[in-house]
Amino acid sequence: MADIDWHQIALDKIAKQMEVPDGYIRLSGPIEHDNIVNGDGLRAVLWTQGCPNHCKGCQNPETWDYTVGTLVKIDDICKELSELQGQTGLTFCGGEPFVQPKACKQIADYCRKELGWDVWSFSGFTYEIIKEFGGEPWEFLKSLDALIDGPFILSQRDLSLRFRGSKNQRLLKLELGTGKILSIE
Ligand code: SF4
Repeated sequence: MADIDWHQIALDKIAKQMEVPDGYIRLSGPIEHDNIVNGDGLRAVLWTQGCPNHCKGCQNPETWDYTVGTLVKIDDICKELSELQGQTGLTFCGGEPFVQPKACKQIADYCRKELGWDVWSFSGFTYEIIKEFGGEPWEFLKSLDALIDGPFILSQRDLSLRFRGSKNQRLLKLELGTGKILSIE
């Protein structure tokens, strides 16, 4: 992980670099489905583009750049998700979903309300840092059932962990609407 003070990161500056208009999200690849490795059940997965974390050993460094990938209309994503069969939830992967919190929250809310799915997200930021950010990142977190948090740390890599790559990362089950931590794995 690069030596960066996360508390100094200006998310609005990142958002400007990403140039994502309202109603759109920047993705690094197509919507995945029938995924069983990024959360409980059978899941759709959104791979978001753009990540400031730059963890050493990251498996998806092509997702770091804020300016590549594909801009996709949120309405089109919701339609595509609604046409999937047999999925129980949606997981946001990256990239760093929390640099596009408004778009991610819109999609999370749609999946819960219209499709009855649960919603998880990965983040290279910790829960505590997201809470400190407040604003849209915290609102997105409050729309989640679970967060897998923290950067990938190569020296702590452990392939036996459920859904996580390194021992510092936590699977946090959250209370919808408040963001309160219900359990920690
Ligand atoms: S947060 Fe995830 S996508 Fe970003 S650098 Fe770390 S491992 Fe890679």
